[in-house]
Amino acid sequence: MNNKILILPGDGIGPEVTSSAMEILRFVKDLYSLDLDIEIHDVGGAAYDKTGYPLPDKTLEIARKSDAILFGAVGGPEWEDLDWDKRPEQALLGLRKELGLFANLRPAFLFNELSSASPIKEEIINDLDILIVRELTGGIYFGEPRGIDTSSNPPHAFNTMIYDEKEIERIGRVAFESAQKRNKKLCSVEKANVLEVSKFWREIITNLSKDYPDVELTHQLADNTAMQLVLDPNQFDVIVSSNLFGDILSDIAATLTGSIGMLPSASLNTSSQGMYEPCHGSAPDIAGKNLANPLAMILSLAMAFRYSLENHQVANIIEESVKEFISRGFRTKDLTEDTSFLETGEVASELIPIIKEKSDV
Ligand code: NAD
Repeated sequence: MNNKILILPGDGIGPEVTSSAMEILRFVKDLYSLDLDIEIHDVGGAAYDKTGYPLPDKTLEIARKSDAILFGAVGGPEWEDLDWDKRPEQALLGLRKELGLFANLRPAFLFNELSSASPIKEEIINDLDILIVRELTGGIYFGEPRGIDTSSNPPHAFNTMIYDEKEIERIGRVAFESAQKRNKKLCSVEKANVLEVSKFWREIITNLSKDYPDVELTHQLADNTAMQLVLDPNQFDVIVSSNLFGDILSDIAATLTGSIGMLPSASLNTSSQGMYEPCHGSAPDIAGKNLANPLAMILSLAMAFRYSLENHQVANIIEESVKEFISRGFRTKDLTEDTSFLETGEVASELIPIIKEKSDV
């Protein structure tokens, strides 16, 4: 039974948004008498201040044994001058690498009530609901050789973009299976016109599509996808891409919704273990002011119930309740021009009665 949850609040607004998610977690745990084992530990700058390491051995050891990790956010100006390996952000990379979290799932969706927050015209953006599946542990960010050679003439720098067949197949399968659960459309994005690794990617994904005849597969070049996401985002259902292109495209998709405080993400390995985090960072500009929107963290909790804790019922109820919360007009500061809005600490108290209404308990 998957029931071990590790909470890593981190830095900046991380502790504020995880605190709201924990209120929801405790509420659903009691409501449905769930047998959950919950632990909270330090990560990032907070862990560095106590132990000298952003990802202490103890945190990593507990993370390895956890089914779902809820990760707030890390980083901030206090730690910007540290050596590279001591920077808070290294905790994130360390967890992804150590746990083999190769599949990053980033939904980008719009609640139509919030469409005025989007930089895109309403008629283009309304009903947006796409999922970006990004390969997270391979490609040019990890490829060897890499380096900067200042002794050569002229001095130069280099990185290696490399994917093997297995890496492409396993991310491809996650994407096809995700598409099967949605609108059965998958767009694979690369630069097969100029890169050998992309040509190879396209061949593998095309071969894989034979196992998923119910999914309509298309291919697009990454520069075109960047444009299409802005011009006609609703043409997409699921997008699958490499680490580099997925990084860029998922940020474009997040920006379309106009509200970074609403978007969750999941990073999964081959054994349904996952790390769940909002798409935003530690927002030092608003940290400690009770102004952060915790809904991205709460929706990340819903993803944890869906993908790692095998409880779709709770996942659905949290997601439906957030939808209802928005349609009843509740807003945090980032979502409204009004002077009256909910503080971070008030969101869970307004959401909990909606969850109770929606539950059948
Ligand atoms: P950011 O996402 O922290 O903030 C960007 C802007 O969005 C800020 O104006 C912020 O106030 C606002 N914002 C972010 N989340 C919000 C929320 N929940 N509610 C309301 N407003 C919100 O990005 P940044 O400013 O580029 O980075 C700040 C720090 O976070 C840096 O140290 C960076 O390295 C780190 N970071 C961490 C992660 C992570 O932990 N996964 C991701 C990105 C950035």
